[in-house]
Amino acid sequence: MLSALRRWREQRIIRRFPYSESDWERQFASMPLLRGLTPDECETLRELSVLFLHRKSLEGAQGLAIDLDMAVPLALQACLPILKLGLDWYNGWVSIVLYPEAFIPAHEEIDEFGVSHLNNEAIYSGESWQHGAVVLAWSEAKQAALIDGHNLLIHEFAHKLDMLNGSANGFPPLHDDMDRAQWTDAFQYAYEDFQLHPRAGIDPYAGTAPAEFFAVISEVFFERPDIVDKHYPRVYVQLKRFYRQDPLTRLGKSSGVRP
Ligand SMILES: [Zn+2]
Repeated sequence: MLSALRRWREQRIIRRFPYSESDWERQFASMPLLRGLTPDECETLRELSVLFLHRKSLEGAQGLAIDLDMAVPLALQACLPILKLGLDWYNGWVSIVLYPEAFIPAHEEIDEFGVSHLNNEAIYSGESWQHGAVVLAWSEAKQAALIDGHNLLIHEFAHKLDMLNGSANGFPPLHDDMDRAQWTDAFQYAYEDFQLHPRAGIDPYAGTAPAEFFAVISEVFFERPDIVDKHYPRVYVQLKRFYRQDPLTRLGKSSGVRP
């Protein structure tokens, strides 16, 4: 009964969303990342995106005004990783803050020695806080749907999935039909190998921490699955089981990627 009521409410939100059929078609057509999705998957992604925008609060920083033509592609990409998982995987936080350009985080960082200091050096294009906001630079986010192996949105939202079971450590909550030892083996091997032999097509930032490896390799998994499969086939299998998607087959079929 509860779920029927929820479904009814969700359908109403979806119906009332002020975006036309041709607007949606334009967005899908402009995003190579979404090629190869079946019509049913496109429909699910659309619905997830509308509900995502309904549940989350999207705020512009430094006077950035956000319209639907910014919010929709952002939501479509954010929801691609959870296409087969469901929106509840993004529970526990609400706000997304969008800066016009890469930003200097105005927060104090606690380093490994427990020392707090203001980080004035690094310029960020995105960050994800445990139980808190996802912060993104629009200048980077709007490029994200190109197939170049980089995707800021998938990166930051992969951190959110990773943080569902504690701090970000490259070990998100696995499904019951997955084997923790297989995940750990595959990722540990790949992470250590990558530190010794950085691979073309995978951002060297992946080598800075297991959490970053998971986030970066998730970007590559969705954009250039052939690269993950080539260098780290066991990681590919684990990601395929985790996201319950097979981008190699999907993008390969649409000739976006040559496996
Ligand atoms: Zn990261």
